[in-house]
This record gives sequence, structure tokens and C-alpha cells, in this order.
Amino acid sequence: MEAFDVTAIVNKIIAGEGGCPHCVSEVARTAENRGMEAASAAVTTHSNGVFDTVDEAVKAAHVAQAKLFDTSLDRRRKIIKAIRERLMPLTMEMAERAVSETKMGNVHDKELKNRIALENTPGVEDLNAATQVLTGDGGMTLYEYCPYGVIGAICPSTNPTETIICNSIGMIAAGNAIYFSPHPGAKETSQWLIGLMNKIVSESSGIENLIVTVKNPSIEAAQEMMTNPGINMLVVTGGPGVVDQAMRSGKKTLGAGAGNPPTIVDETADIVKAAKDIVNGASFDNNVPCIAEKNIVAVSSIADYLVYNMQQNGAVYITNPDDIRKLEALTVTPKQTPNKNYVGRSAVKILTDAGVAFSGEPRLIVVESTEKDPFAKIEMLMPIIPIIRVPDFECALNIALELENGLHHTASMHSENVDRLNKAARLLQTSIFVKNAPTYAGIGFGAEGPTTFTIATPTGEGTTTARNFARERRCVLAGAFSIK
Ligand code: NAD
Repeated sequence: MEAFDVTAIVNKIIAGEGGCPHCVSEVARTAENRGMEAASAAVTTHSNGVFDTVDEAVKAAHVAQAKLFDTSLDRRRKIIKAIRERLMPLTMEMAERAVSETKMGNVHDKELKNRIALENTPGVEDLNAATQVLTGDGGMTLYEYCPYGVIGAICPSTNPTETIICNSIGMIAAGNAIYFSPHPGAKETSQWLIGLMNKIVSESSGIENLIVTVKNPSIEAAQEMMTNPGINMLVVTGGPGVVDQAMRSGKKTLGAGAGNPPTIVDETADIVKAAKDIVNGASFDNNVPCIAEKNIVAVSSIADYLVYNMQQNGAVYITNPDDIRKLEALTVTPKQTPNKNYVGRSAVKILTDAGVAFSGEPRLIVVESTEKDPFAKIEMLMPIIPIIRVPDFECALNIALELENGLHHTASMHSENVDRLNKAARLLQTSIFVKNAPTYAGIGFGAEGPTTFTIATPTGEGTTTARNFARERRCVLAGAFSIK
């Protein structure tokens, strides 16, 4: 029998010439039958999905994806089940590794984020729920969600493990392989997790290298990945620079960018609850989540009572202009960007290093501000939140709109007035709008709905699930199958 050339077929698939079912199946079968020797003929395998070069990693991922696509949905379900079950006992270790390496966030909250990512990220069922069938005199038309191939997923340093978990579950559910481009500052933790997940995938399905990365992640490697012809879709979770760059790549891109979530509090709100919710949300993981409250815009008549109740819930309130200047000098650079050394650091560390007196162990710093101040305008990603006093709701909404700045990310409002809630939700046009709860309710903490750590803002998909990592296809059976 003629020898089957895996290298040639993988190269053809990558070039878009060999994606026919026969070639895909042949790659899958050859790799299956001969074990990884076959894949090794096409690529130089490193260990557990970590490769020397971007190109090797992408090629190995194509072999894996061909195997995944050639098999049953049940195999995808088994892989996802194994990921959930086997990573669940390691959520604390993941959190400890991430905090120790990145120095951002706190172990308690990161552990919760890892856990909810494993428990509440939808799998294959999300594709089934998205499937649609039309039947009528013309026959039957089916809309289904099919894999892109190999997805290049860029991850932030602020949520390294939870993004890898939720992207992997959703992308594998949709039938893809994933090339992860972690932040260099979260390299060790990310590679450890990717290696572990590859082992879990391999042991539960026999497929190697479904999740890959490179030994030395860097900005250059991420850019090389964006232009590699074997990458079929980009999913970028990060700041505005990298999202803009990916959107200019010419590839299908899902961009999950920066936010600056305002929270409005009006005079009808349950102020005691609002104060507690805001402290919980804005201090969560030291405010590194992109969805965390970044500004409070409060109607003046209730602002003092709100601040008082925030203090009862672990916030320290800073009004002295000298103290505000000290905090600014420490945390904001002359270029009006957050000082990276303080991103995700605790309130205690920031207050201590700024030389601002405090007592106890505050978890959030509330600063008396205006909408023009740096703490209000900049996405700080620190447990510092400005409070801006306004005369009424209309004024609050205008300032919230200005601070959200058209990012279409997240906003919240505490109010009992449904008309105002409705107006704010309509006009803010954010991907997530939360009423009377911490903003983390918008990613499934203590509220309905699936979890994601990739909220596609400029590209408009919003809170992503498996169907967003799949291509919608229309399959037509003309003249039949309508039996009504
Ligand atoms: P970052 O933009 O510095 O880095 C994000 C990723 O992009 C990293 O992997 C980094 O290596 C890569 N990268 C950065 N610049 C690049 C370039 N020029 N070319 C190629 N790759 C590049 O962000 P970060 O500090 O790691 O994360 C925080 C940011 O991410 C915040 O702005 C936050 O709002 C955003 N974020 C958004 C979401 C969302 O779902 N919308 C989720 C988490 C974080």
C-alpha cells in the first residue's frame, strides 16, 4: 500500500487545499493507527503540547484537530468531562501559581474563578442549543455550528488559568484545537496548565496536542501566530493594543478588550445592599477582572450613606487631597497609564507604599473624585475606585456613558426604578449590564447564565460560549424532509 504522507496532508490542510473529508480522515486515522510517530513525521513534538516554534505547534494542533473532527461528539464530551473532573481538585494550586508568578489578584478569589470556569462553562450542549432547522414546502434547511480548525487564543496576565480553562472547554466543544499565546508574565503557570490539560485530553481520548503553545511566549511569538497561515481564527482576550492588532490581521477575529465599568447608584436603591455589592465586586481578585466595577457615580443625596456603608464592608474612604495625590503618584504613570507594579495588588499594599495612613485591613480604596480625574478615566485594574457625586440620575447616566467610553464592556446600576434601569441598559449598550448586584453576577457568580472570561466587546459577540468559536453553516435538503 502506498505510504500516507501526513506532512503533505497537514500542509495542504493548513494551506486550505486539503480540508476534504478524505484528507482529514486520513490524517486522523494515520495518526490514530501509528500513534504519535505519524504526527512526528509532520512536526517535531516537544512535551505535552509545548513546542519550540509557533509553526511546529500549529502543525501539531492541526493533526489533533483532524482527529477530533473525525470522531463523535461524544468524544468531545468525554474530553470536557475529564478536564472538569481532573482539574477541579487543582483549582487552589492554579490560583497559588498564578498569584505567585504574576503578583496580581488574590488566591481566594482566583480559586473561585477557576472553579466557576470549570463548573459553569458550557460544552457541546451549547452547540446543540444553537442548532436550528427550518422545514416547509421547499424542504429542510439546517443551521449547524462547525469548527474553524486551529484557533489562536491570546490570554491576559490578569486571568491566566481561568481564560485557558474556559477557552479550552468552549473551543474543544466546538471541535477546534487551540494554540494558546499566554502573557509572558504568566508563562510558567500557563505552560504548566497547558501541559496538564494535554495529558488529560490524551488520556481521555488518545488525542495528543489538542492544546498547544510555545516554550518561549513573547509579543513576537504572538504576532507570528497571528499571521501563521495555519491559524483559522483569532480569539484575543487582552488590552486595546493587542485587540486592535488582531483585528487588523485579516483573519476572523473575536476581540475581548478592555473596559471601564461604571456603576450608577440612585436615590431609590437599597443603599446598604448596593454598598456591600460594590465593595464585593470592586475588590474581587483585587479588581483585575475586566468586568469589575471601576467607577461609582452616585446621586448626591445618598452618597454619604453609601460611603458609610462601604466603610462598614471593608472599604477605606480617602478625601484628603494630599493622600489622593500620593495614591495617584504611586499608581498612575506620567503617560496616564496604570503603574504595572501595582496592577492587581492589594489595597493594603497600595496604601502602605503610598504612605497613606489607614487602620485595619481594607480591601477597597474609595477616593472622592470627579469624572475628569485619572482614577475615573483610566482602567486601573487595582482596588481603587473613585466616587463621583452627581445631582440626579440623568446626570449620572451621562457621566457613566462618558466613562464607559463606547467600549461596550460592562456597566451596572443600583436602583428600584425600572424605567431608569431600562434607560441606562439601553443607552449604555454594554455587553454586560447588571442590576442590583456585583458586576461579577454578569459572568455567572451568584446569578443565572454561563461563565466566560472572554467577553467579546469590540467585535460584539458579548459573553462567549462554544457557538462563538464555531462557524455557522447552512445545509439544505431541497424538496424533502418536511412531514407536517
Ligand atoms: P495585555 O494587553 O498587556 O496582554 C494581553 C495579551 O496580549 C498577552 O498575552 C500579551 O502577551 C499579548 N500582547 C500584548 N501586546 C501585544 C502585541 N502588541 N502583539 C501581540 N500580543 C500582544 O493585557 P493584560 O495586562 O495581560 O490583561 C489586562 C487587559 O485585558 C485589560 O485591559 C482587561 O480589561 C483586558 N481583559 C479583557 C477581557 C474581556 O473578556 N474583554 C478579559 C480579561 C482581560
